[in-house]
Amino acid sequence: MSRPAAGGPEPDPSGEPSHVQLFQVGPAASGWALALHGGAGGRVEELSLDAAGDYRQGLTAAYTAGAAVLAAGGSALDAVCAAVERLEDDPLFNAGRGAALTAAGTAELDACVMTGDGRAGAVAACRHARNPVHAARKVMEDSAAVLLVAPGEDRLNGWHLETVPPEYFLTPARQQQLRNVQDRVLQGSRHGTVGAVAVDLRGRVAAATSTGGMVNQSEGRVGDTPIVGAGTYARDGVGAISCTGEGEAFIQGVVAVDVAARVRYLGTPMAQAIEATVRAELVPRGATGGLIAVAADGSVVVGHNSPMMFAAYSDGDRLVTRT
Ligand code: ASP
Repeated sequence: MSRPAAGGPEPDPSGEPSHVQLFQVGPAASGWALALHGGAGGRVEELSLDAAGDYRQGLTAAYTAGAAVLAAGGSALDAVCAAVERLEDDPLFNAGRGAALTAAGTAELDACVMTGDGRAGAVAACRHARNPVHAARKVMEDSAAVLLVAPGEDRLNGWHLETVPPEYFLTPARQQQLRNVQDRVLQGSRHGTVGAVAVDLRGRVAAATSTGGMVNQSEGRVGDTPIVGAGTYARDGVGAISCTGEGEAFIQGVVAVDVAARVRYLGTPMAQAIEATVRAELVPRGATGGLIAVAADGSVVVGHNSPMMFAAYSDGDRLVTRT
């Protein structure tokens, strides 16, 4: 385990699932906190290393959008949605435009939002909402459902959400990645996903996660992202958590809520709770991935047992982007 100061050592490339890397920063003087992830996959396998700078730019733009909301006294929910919207619009990340593709070459998008007062909304296999995170929020705020599968254009239009043709989400880089996976040129990690967690000036927490799922997944396959408690969870007084990684293991291990339960019932600090859950639920399943969390006190934790994880958070003085 590594527990360095923010910006610590380079990620261990060993890729051993039992190697858990943790990064944490204490509560910010500002009274609010925000953390983002852009997936815990394999940068090298997915796109060119030359794109590292662009990933940083994307994370910075998303962090800036969410931070502006929080600094102005806005809600944690608005902040995580603003940040995730930017990452969905950025074709480098596996969410929204540029999402990972199914075996059929289609984009089926999943997203979830949850607020610390126990409200949640999610969409799965969404093909028409430009920003699935906003569709998930509409499910939470304007429907009787918690999880809606394949919301149609009529429903999205009725919610005044921007709709796009399914081709909007496809990018040449993702189509090439799919060919590489199908031709077995690419053996490594096939996951990605984006997410944000925040605590606002009023102490409210929220989490949002959005994904195209696993590269080459079968049509109709849904991972952990839109499953409350698996890939996304928030509870006031405890914290907010957003996950990325091999979704089946995150669902079977109910990973996000397992972390929250350790904090809530055992009083375990967030960083140790994340490490314990990764060891208990991911490592035995041979699965890799990562989590970001804000604790109720505003401290931020990033933890992963994948070789790397894209993340952004503030160490108090400056923005830290991990790529
Ligand atoms: N967890 C996502 C899923 O299984 C994939 C990812 O995080 O990259 O659908």
